[in-house]
Amino acid sequence: MQEQINRRWLIQDRPIGRALRDSDFRLDSAPASKVGDGQVMLRTLYLGFDPALKSWMENIAGYADPTEIGGLMPGSGIGQVIESRAAGFAPGDLVVGQIGWQEIAVVAASKLEPVPADVPPASALSVLGLTGRTAYFGLLEVGKPRAGDTLVISGAAGAVGSVVGQIGKIAGCRVIGIAGGAAKCAWLTEELGFDAAIDYKSEKLRGRLRELCPAGIDIVFDNVGGDVLNDCLARLTFGARVVICGGITRYNADPRDPGQMPPGPRNYFNVVFTQAIIQGFLVHHFADRYPVGDARLKDWLRQGLIVDRQDVQTGFENAPRTLMRLFDGANRGKQLLKVAEAADAG
Ligand code: NAP
Repeated sequence: MQEQINRRWLIQDRPIGRALRDSDFRLDSAPASKVGDGQVMLRTLYLGFDPALKSWMENIAGYADPTEIGGLMPGSGIGQVIESRAAGFAPGDLVVGQIGWQEIAVVAASKLEPVPADVPPASALSVLGLTGRTAYFGLLEVGKPRAGDTLVISGAAGAVGSVVGQIGKIAGCRVIGIAGGAAKCAWLTEELGFDAAIDYKSEKLRGRLRELCPAGIDIVFDNVGGDVLNDCLARLTFGARVVICGGITRYNADPRDPGQMPPGPRNYFNVVFTQAIIQGFLVHHFADRYPVGDARLKDWLRQGLIVDRQDVQTGFENAPRTLMRLFDGANRGKQLLKVAEAADAG
């Protein structure tokens, strides 16, 4: 096979204690590696973005493989197989996995999953990927919703939050989303079926929670932490569940410097009076049950009970700026980058 030139984004600096900068990344070109036994070569079609990628660059996410300065920027993506030395994978197949920010990836087939058939391929990075799984297991297994519960979600117009709210409606909850900006809030109530939404940037969150949750909050699904979480903790019902999924308000602080870290939630002591449970989770903990979650998510998607909103940017050279969109609140739904069109099969 003709030698392939691979463009890839490398990590040039660790953005610890500050926002991301263009200079944290370097675009590089090199011949693609040769395909070894058990490996496949892919052309990247889409990259998927999660705020946690910043923590991976900082080497502070204990669950992720360490990154190196000068090393490939990690990240999930969808690729089309162009060469295979692995059983069960053939040129033309679409696969999803951790392929990194590169246009041509040579990866172990054991780390890849097939893109589900009968749905738009990019769904494998959103509702039918880790995002949907995070929403599904985080809400159903950790949040344990019951019909009639009041569910409040922060980061509600983001990838995970928007799916949590829709699963909450399926479970019979009254769903209130917290998001930045009137347009995002209108989208949550008018298109996704949330019962109410609060614009934390222009409204007084604490007062609005009091109005909208007069009997209290049964489940908090938190993606942001900080003051938003603190205000939610003030309104817990007896036996409430607080699901800690993410904490983007702390992602620009240096965890080694206590002075930079946001203070802990002042209202935490309310969990004593309400006997509430605050529980964090990592989606990987549920890996052995992904097939169950995937099947239900796929059904809900097909039945139109879940809307899969993707925010698709284009152009491989825009990868760093696309990650920055998450920290600017520019995305609505799952942040993706389209890198190439799929080639026709055959
Ligand atoms: P996302 O919500 O699509 O994107 C981030 C959103 O966070 C932005 O759109 C913005 O929305 C909001 N935001 C940014 N800065 C903020 C700030 N300072 N204060 C409040 N909100 C801010 O991201 P996602 O992929 O769905 O991920 C959500 C969270 O879940 C992340 O923290 C991610 O790391 C975490 N996660 C956890 C697991 C797990 O296993 N526990 C798995 C996947 C993801 P607004 O415009 O509304 O501010």
